[in-house]
Amino acid sequence: MSRYKDANCRICRREGMKLFLKGDRCFSEKCAVDRRGVPPGQHGTVSRRKPTEYGIRLREKQKTRKTYGIGEKQFRNYFEKASRTQGETGTGLLQLLETRLDNIVYRLGLAASRKAARQLVLHRHILVNNRILNIPSYVTRIGDVIQVKESSRQLDCIHSSLSAASQRPAVPWLDLDKTTLAGNLLELPDRENIPTPVQEQLIIELYSK
Ligand code: SF4
Repeated sequence: MSRYKDANCRICRREGMKLFLKGDRCFSEKCAVDRRGVPPGQHGTVSRRKPTEYGIRLREKQKTRKTYGIGEKQFRNYFEKASRTQGETGTGLLQLLETRLDNIVYRLGLAASRKAARQLVLHRHILVNNRILNIPSYVTRIGDVIQVKESSRQLDCIHSSLSAASQRPAVPWLDLDKTTLAGNLLELPDRENIPTPVQEQLIIELYSK
């Protein structure tokens, strides 16, 4: 998958809201959205035309995709998968995104951002059910135990992230033992327990055209 290499803060500025892509910085006064909340680029301060209906739906999809760090094609695949499952497609889509291994590591507070969580997984610091798993897109299941491997438990980045995680919204569908750094997926999250401020209905409308 091609990776986005430009500054993450530009993504937030383009969407006009904080997407929390950079860990601690997002909660500090250095946040670019708080400092200058205009779109990036030379014409960022120029007032824009009223967005079209299509534009509004497209931005919602892009915002969601960028929040979770997913490529275009993979995101579409998640949507197709969600639309084939029972229940609401929008909630199903968010559940698929939330149960990705990199997102679970982030939600447990073991990494400062989803990008950092992805690094932890790729660098083989994370075990799933006692086996190293270096696939960030792995979709975890209820009952899976996600743990930092023993030799990595002293990593500074993990401990600083854990102490800063109290600033984030609670996720009652996950449980973390801070001694063993082992987390558990207790259940699939309801929509109200997914703290991602997106209107998934707009994404459904976009893809249903
Ligand atoms: Fe977005 Fe975080 Fe940058 Fe703020 S600091 S603009 S929330 S990535």
